[in-house]
Amino acid sequence: MQPPDRADRALTGEFWAGIDRGELLRPVCGRCGRSFFTPQVVCPTCRSEQWSYQPSSGRGTVYSYTVVHRPPEPSFEAPYVLAIVDVAEGWSLLTWIVDCPAPDVHIGMDVEVRFTAGPDGALLPAFTPRSADRDATEVGA
Ligand SMILES: [Zn+2]
Repeated sequence: MQPPDRADRALTGEFWAGIDRGELLRPVCGRCGRSFFTPQVVCPTCRSEQWSYQPSSGRGTVYSYTVVHRPPEPSFEAPYVLAIVDVAEGWSLLTWIVDCPAPDVHIGMDVEVRFTAGPDGALLPAFTPRSADRDATEVGA
């Protein structure tokens, strides 16, 4: 049996539908107001089931990172930078840093979301250094 398309998945479908249209969403609790990630059945802080997806600014800072030289499968082009990014609304996600040489990545670096085609061609939320003169039209790396 095939798994459902990512946009049809019960808990994460809305998140992936947002990615597919170039919008980063995050779960926000209707009771305590906190953002969290990954999507959960209940808010990890107050256990409320009353949460909804809301838009994110897509801006954040690098909390931590590592450079992967031996990818889990050949379709990943190595080396690449895997990072935890703290996003402005108080949530974080495991992601990639793209369009930046690995030696230039540092903890605390200001980054912004950039939707990048993954190995199967579907868009994924990656992050790139925040820069005013960046060409934001390029997709992929
Ligand atoms: Zn809550």
